[in-house]
Amino acid sequence: MTRRKLVAGNWKMNGSRATLHELDAIARAAAANPGIDVAVAIPATLIEPASARVPGLAIGAEDVHANASGAHTGCLSAAMVREAGARFTIVGHSERRSDQHETSQDAWGKAAAAHKEGLSVILCCGETEAERDAGRAERVVQAQIEKSVPDNADGAWFTLAYEPRWAIGTGRTPTHDEIGAIHAIARAKLRMLVGDAAAGIRILYGGSVTGANAAAILAIDNVDGALIGGASLTAEKFVPIIEAAGAM
Ligand code: PEP
Repeated sequence: MTRRKLVAGNWKMNGSRATLHELDAIARAAAANPGIDVAVAIPATLIEPASARVPGLAIGAEDVHANASGAHTGCLSAAMVREAGARFTIVGHSERRSDQHETSQDAWGKAAAAHKEGLSVILCCGETEAERDAGRAERVVQAQIEKSVPDNADGAWFTLAYEPRWAIGTGRTPTHDEIGAIHAIARAKLRMLVGDAAAGIRILYGGSVTGANAAAILAIDNVDGALIGGASLTAEKFVPIIEAAGAM
């Protein structure tokens, strides 16, 4: 099955109304590469102005709560970010797992809630450096997938992102063989969980992707795109990644 490549940005706790102009050139690059999908997850306060500014670009949230409403001070529901203009959300990002102590079970609940509200989902998994050093990377990722992927997941709304935690924001990446090995294992695990639908689910690689390494990473088997943090903050750095994916 052919899976369209997806290049997704994650601005994290960066950006302001003054930097939204970066999305203009990103949206133009997305339109110039119609064979791929481009998306940018941004702080919740920017979703509405960004969606109005670049209506052709998929703008998303970086997280949602698993509940539809209630006493959860400071949190946002999937319906709230959708109302603001989000078309998708990231869930289970490793920074939320480390900073907010979120679990794979939490990510499962968030993915299910987002899907119920009509959002697409990018669900993150990935091992720590200690887990990789101990030879446990594959088992850790398999367990995360097993606990967090909803059993009705399919490629129409669900994307998995493999992001080794030690590669995020560090400038370090696994070898291509290491990335390929985890992506193959992730695909096999998805097949066990959702059957034939696994063939349509995109698996992104994330962790220090740049314009310089994107083409080689995107050419690895079972790598269906990339999730990009630091290099998504400016069009100057993000557009070359879009172009690398578009040229494949
Ligand atoms: C991320 O936070 O999802 C990420 C991949 O960050 P970076 O590209 O900066 O490593």
